[in-house]
Amino acid sequence: MPKPGELTFVAPRGAKPPRHLADLSPAERKEAVAELGEQPFRAKQLSNHYFGRLSDDPATWTDIPAGSRGKLTESLLPELMSVVRHVSCDDDATRKTLWKLFDGTLVESVLMRYPDRVTMCISSQAGCGMNCPFCATGQAGLTRNLSTAEIVEQIASGMRDLKSGAVPGGEARLSNVVFMGMGEPLANYNRVLAAVRRLTDPAPDGFGLSQRGITVSTVGLVPAMYRFADEGLSCRLALSLHAPDDELRDELVPVNTRWKVDEVLEAAWNYADKSGRRISIEYALIKDINDQAWRADLLGRLIKNRRVHVNLIPLNPTPGSKWTASRPEDEREFVRRLQAHGVPTTVRDTRGQEIDGACGQLAAAG
Ligand code: SAH
Repeated sequence: MPKPGELTFVAPRGAKPPRHLADLSPAERKEAVAELGEQPFRAKQLSNHYFGRLSDDPATWTDIPAGSRGKLTESLLPELMSVVRHVSCDDDATRKTLWKLFDGTLVESVLMRYPDRVTMCISSQAGCGMNCPFCATGQAGLTRNLSTAEIVEQIASGMRDLKSGAVPGGEARLSNVVFMGMGEPLANYNRVLAAVRRLTDPAPDGFGLSQRGITVSTVGLVPAMYRFADEGLSCRLALSLHAPDDELRDELVPVNTRWKVDEVLEAAWNYADKSGRRISIEYALIKDINDQAWRADLLGRLIKNRRVHVNLIPLNPTPGSKWTASRPEDEREFVRRLQAHGVPTTVRDTRGQEIDGACGQLAAAG
């Protein structure tokens, strides 16, 4: 028997997340408010509190009469997710959050403080359907797409905590967002794109973050990459390449069996041309698998003289994986060869490794 007050509601399988202000465009917000019998200008007031002031406490929204406030909050600002826990490391400069969504689904996001910026890494799906064998998220498969507001709320919550000083290190503002948490963002295209608009539309329509500070990372879903290029955004596109040859990439990034290395790179250059931004090529260095000098040369030849930057990621350990990070001398040689081709190359620092919060480690285990 459940105790009195215990949460007994279990969402039916396939139920949709409740509708939230952050799901809606400014025009849709006006309509939704009018449908509730409220004046359309209340939509702007609500947006100003949620996006402009980062306030999630309706009791302080005194420009809206109390009666309307209750109705508007109930219908447009339902609680979408709750924090199961925060875990920190790197002297509190990295904080991972485990979220529980309305139907019990778990997802994670990571907030990283640097001397000159704050970056949040967010999830776009619960789980992932891309099945890359070296990535922990891929191992459990896809649970479901996140709604736009479920994506946005990860950021909103981080921004509120930064503003109030709840994140160790004192007050700060969010500068960058990377869609590099759980999921393949371009496989949840419409919701991710709407989330990008909410993040970057000027306040009070959205949070007013710079498009240049947003990175969308993809395994290489070619048609969606072309579509994304036509949105007229100046976001950065990261391509998880991991191998320069189809034989190995077919294994490391299974979607390569559908869209090959040359097609995926063409789609990336098209994005670079349209957006004016350099493509970021992600390449996890895996010992004796993809870190040979000849592969560095092959990659260098494929991408030299392009608008590109290579981000090498020392492989992070994941449960049950037989692979490990490259030897330091192989990593150095890989960097040297790419640079010899004139390709800007950096090795990413592996923030959050000991809390399973680094690249490829998000598994959202309760
Ligand atoms: N699905 C998208 C977004 C996830 S981004 C994508 O793949 O691009 C997460 C990044 O971390 C990707 O580049 C992914 O390939 C990389 N990654 C996955 N597992 C990793 C691991 N064990 N070590 C290092 N990087 C990993």
